[in-house]
Formats: sequence, C-alpha cells, structure tokens
Amino acid sequence: MKYILVTGGVISGIGKGVIASSLGTILKAGGVRVTSIKIDPYINIDAGTFSPYEHGEVYVLDDGGEVDLDLGNYERFLDVTLRRDNNITTGKIYQQVINKERRGDYLGKTVQVVPHITDAIQEWVERVAKIPVDGHKKEPDICIIEPKTTGEQKTKPTQNSVRELRGLGLFSDLLVCRSQSPLSDEVRNKLSNFCHVGPEQVICVHDVTSIYRVPLLLQEQKVVEYLTQRLQLAFHPNKPRKF
Ligand code: ADP
Repeated sequence: MKYILVTGGVISGIGKGVIASSLGTILKAGGVRVTSIKIDPYINIDAGTFSPYEHGEVYVLDDGGEVDLDLGNYERFLDVTLRRDNNITTGKIYQQVINKERRGDYLGKTVQVVPHITDAIQEWVERVAKIPVDGHKKEPDICIIEPKTTGEQKTKPTQNSVRELRGLGLFSDLLVCRSQSPLSDEVRNKLSNFCHVGPEQVICVHDVTSIYRVPLLLQEQKVVEYLTQRLQLAFHPNKPRKF
C-alpha cells in the first residue's frame, strides 16, 4: 500500500479536493487501484449535524454515512463506493479512544494525544486503505489522503507552508498551484528555487471551465510519469494493465 498525502493551501476552498480526486483519476485510468480517505479536523462525529449554510449539503454514502461533500467528488471521479470510515474526523477518533479507555483496554495507562490518539489515526488509515472500493475483491494499490486545514484564512504564502512541512519532517514531492491564469515560467522557477523542488515538481492548476478538465491538466504536466517513478509503481499508468 502506498499513500499520497494532499495537504496545505494558503486558503481553504483552493481546490485540494478536486486535485486529490484528479490525481486518483489519472492513476486509475492506467489501471492503478485507488481508494481515498478524507481527514477533517472538526470534533463533530460526522457532517450530519452541520448547518447547510456553513458547509453546503451533506453527502450521504451507500452505507448511510453522512459525510463531507468531497467524498462525493471522490466517488464520481474514481467511480468507487466509499464507506463512512473513509471520512475520519477528530470526533470519531476521540470517541473510539475514549470508548477503549472506558473498557479498560489501555490497562491503566495514562491516555494521551501522543501516542494514543496518533496511533488510533494511523491504525484507522491502515485499516480503511485496504478495503476494496471499486467492486473488485483486490486491495487498492494507492490511498489518497486529504486532510482539511482548519478553515481559517491563512495569509502565509506557499513558501511558508513548505517550510512548516519540512519542520515536521515532510518533504513535498509536488507543489500544485491553483491560480486564475497559467503560471508564468518566472513564477514557476521562483517557487522551485525557494521551495527546494525542481521546476517539473511545480504543477499549475489554473481556473478551468469544468473541474473534469483538472485531471487533463495534471496529465499534460507529466504528473503520471513523476508518480510512477516516485512511488516506484511496477506498472506504468500510461500503459494500462488488465484487471
Ligand atoms: P478545498 O478542498 O481546498 O476546500 P475544493 O476542491 O472543494 O477545495 O474546491 C473548491 C471549489 O473550487 C469547488 O467549487 C471546485 O469546483 C472549484 N475548483 C477547484 N479547482 C478548480 C479549477 N481548477 N478551476 C475551476 N474551479 C475549480
């Protein structure tokens, strides 16, 4: 199992969900089995009790799970059927850990964020990523994980986001930049220089008339080739294997 983590964003609503779905689409088009997990920071157990004025409509999955709208994007882009567990919230994780604590599962230990909450998140991801979602019985090859940021307006530019990630020991593989018009070479090179990535790792996703064009934008900028090499995929997504 390999994971692609989509995170960051100077502001919310920048298109992370669409970019995560589009990455999945271009990989799936080449025969890679893809699943996805959305991580939301709120303490609500799920989106069922949200005001539609604040969050838009609630998306209801086949198993009755009431989840974030982005899960709808994943299902449509990837042609998969997700379950309520594909949407993790802080509330779900804490509820699980507190229930375990009440059962005595921690054998008298002090229950703390590190390692108990962090372990619970990791175990959840590893368990759910393995569940087939495309109607076949085989385990997915890749799980795309999108953690939402807290939603506050951030003014720090991309450079600061990259620096923050590096501080956590995470090195960016691709910088996907949403902009009104295509990025100029000058901006691309500047981002490459200041964020310690090659110019080919700076991907431009400008505003398009339909979000279904986003996978094509990624493909044109050789994202498939990059991921094939970075994730050491044994097969090439541009030469589809047979299921
Ligand atoms: P986030 O996950 O960062 O909150 P979303 O993926 O939900 O953002 O996208 C926010 C909005 O922007 C959605 O309405 C989506 O349809 C639109 N959008 C995303 N990418 C593009 C694009 N390249 N061109 C036009 N609209 C886009």
